[in-house]
Amino acid sequence: MIRQETQASGNGILQTALHNFEQAVNRLQLSDEIAGKILGPKERIELTLSPILPNGHVLNLKAFVVRHNDVLGPAKGGIRMTPDVTLDDVTGLAMEMTWKTSVIGVPFGGGKSGIRVDPMSLTPEGKEVVIRAFTRGARRHLGPEIYVPAPDMGTNELDMARIRDCISYSQATSITDGCFVTGKPVILGGVAGRREATGKGVVYTVLALCRKLGMKIEGLRVAVQGFGNVGSVAACEIARNGAKIVAVSDVTGALGAPDGLDPAALAAQVQQTGSVVGFPGTKEVDPAQVLEADCDVLIPAATQSQITEKNADRIAARIIAEGANAPTTPEADGILNRRGVLIIPDILCNAGGVFVSYLEYTQETQREQMTIEEVEGRLATRMTDRFRDVDELTEKNGLTMRDAAMNLAVQRVVDGVLARGLLP
Ligand code: NAD
Repeated sequence: MIRQETQASGNGILQTALHNFEQAVNRLQLSDEIAGKILGPKERIELTLSPILPNGHVLNLKAFVVRHNDVLGPAKGGIRMTPDVTLDDVTGLAMEMTWKTSVIGVPFGGGKSGIRVDPMSLTPEGKEVVIRAFTRGARRHLGPEIYVPAPDMGTNELDMARIRDCISYSQATSITDGCFVTGKPVILGGVAGRREATGKGVVYTVLALCRKLGMKIEGLRVAVQGFGNVGSVAACEIARNGAKIVAVSDVTGALGAPDGLDPAALAAQVQQTGSVVGFPGTKEVDPAQVLEADCDVLIPAATQSQITEKNADRIAARIIAEGANAPTTPEADGILNRRGVLIIPDILCNAGGVFVSYLEYTQETQREQMTIEEVEGRLATRMTDRFRDVDELTEKNGLTMRDAAMNLAVQRVVDGVLARGLLP
């Protein structure tokens, strides 16, 4: 029923999201009525934007906004700016956000946006024009009670500042009335620690799993695919806890460092050159080797569908911590589960960002100011508590962590649907 309704095909984020939902529907024995209501998406918008770049060139591009579900609160989810993002990708990512906000326990639903352009092809001024064009085009779909975006691949805190500025400018006010966007710079109402929250959250779940397994962090060998916001912060944080970063890749190339590399110095290089390539003391390797690196923990932190039935057999890691959204296809998931590889699923593993976005949302709504200590303390507690909840269900019902997290997430949304009532 689910596939027929969405007509999804292929092997992308939407198919992975639908597969995971379908499995949860079967495990929880949900009725067709409830499953159909949750399947959504509530709103799927395609926009055509025609911003005029500072060089006078008119760019015609597509942008997408999807509100998957808002039973538990306003839709929440980042803006992806990549040259190949599709409406189906954004729908799958929005669906994942519904489960992520639910499992991490914040009063939000799931949403996502996409802007189909290569951010690396734009000057900083050109990117600002594109972001402002998106904000004006999507304005009707944004709002503290509707959909609140944040950064995702290809967007950052400066872009979020421009969204807030564009909205407050159009209202002729200094600030917006409530929180329209999270992940802003601290100087414009952002919360300290938001930028690092996703990467640190990933590491808190790895530490919790290692504690449970009796594995020492000291000397743990870690490979990281993607060295942007999530990957670089996760690498620095896990190295700070004593682990060794033995392989890293980004879109420009890949590095092997069997004796470990300094991720903070690598992040500084990436800031300057935009690439991990050429880092002293490392050797360049085939990007595929990073996923298959000889390591204990693999952190995919780039993009979707990277671990597939083609390479799942060759993954050497004992633990996969899904920093990226939907990095593992359902076929690969099956292979890895059979091999006993432990996967901390994306909806739990990378939920630190949306949790701290929730802190930013409440801070702005209440015109409060939170300290970095408060934010980091609450993030660590929430990630560890939710990991424990998922782990308990995993053990109790003999499930994988992905299935347990999905059961918890979908059940909370079902409870919300039933509490609201089925009729509007
Ligand atoms: P980013 O744009 O800051 O970084 C992406 C990184 O991945 C870059 O280093 C890029 O070069 C690299 N990359 C892209 N394609 C690659 C490929 N095929 N192979 C190797 N490297 C590749 O993005 P980000 O915010 O760090 O997001 C990374 C992932 O984490 C995405 O899947 C995103 O949806 C997910 N995520 C991000 C957040 C957040 O708060 N930023 C929260 C939850 C999930």
